[in-house]
Amino acid sequence: MPLKLAIVGRPNVGKSTLFNRLAGKKLAIVDDRPGVTRDRRFATGNIGDLDLALIDTAGFEDVDDDSLEARMRAQTELAIDECDVALFLIDAREGITPMDEVFAELLRRKDKPVLLAANKAEGRQGESGALEAYNLGLGEPLQISGEHGEGMADLYAALAVYA
Ligand code: GDP
Ligand code: MG
Repeated sequence: MPLKLAIVGRPNVGKSTLFNRLAGKKLAIVDDRPGVTRDRRFATGNIGDLDLALIDTAGFEDVDDDSLEARMRAQTELAIDECDVALFLIDAREGITPMDEVFAELLRRKDKPVLLAANKAEGRQGESGALEAYNLGLGEPLQISGEHGEGMADLYAALAVYA
């Protein structure tokens, strides 16, 4: 059985880039159920010898009204409920924003394991952002770069615990 991994966080932290990397060459399976389920993408993938069932949560680039936060919250909650482990991404270059705090609070209220990752941390550019992320109270952040494939061995080791 693959490990069900939900990639969650606010828009633009790099969720889809990491999703695509872990999904590799396999085509992402687009779910066409109506409503909020459409806001998530599903694909199989792997990291090393670990098989993954990936869930990406969308950023609603097309939405710019008051429903944005409510929709993100709803689909993030669904993704968390569906997963074995939630991978919570923050942008290490930007540090922690108020919207990151909202997601952190949501994750703290769920009883799923959470892995915190400071993304965009290639070339050690994420050190201060990672320090801020530590203060979210969700454990020590992994420092990764989904775009450049850095930190994948640490991510593998952290996920293998749940396999
Ligand atoms: P999402 O909204 O969370 O799904 O974020 P995306 O995956 O769409 O990425 C948002 C932006 O961040 C894009 O311009 C990406 O190229 C960029 N990005 C994603 N991952 C990284 C990374 O590891 N390092 C850097 N420097 N940029 C990244
Ligand atoms: Mg995305």
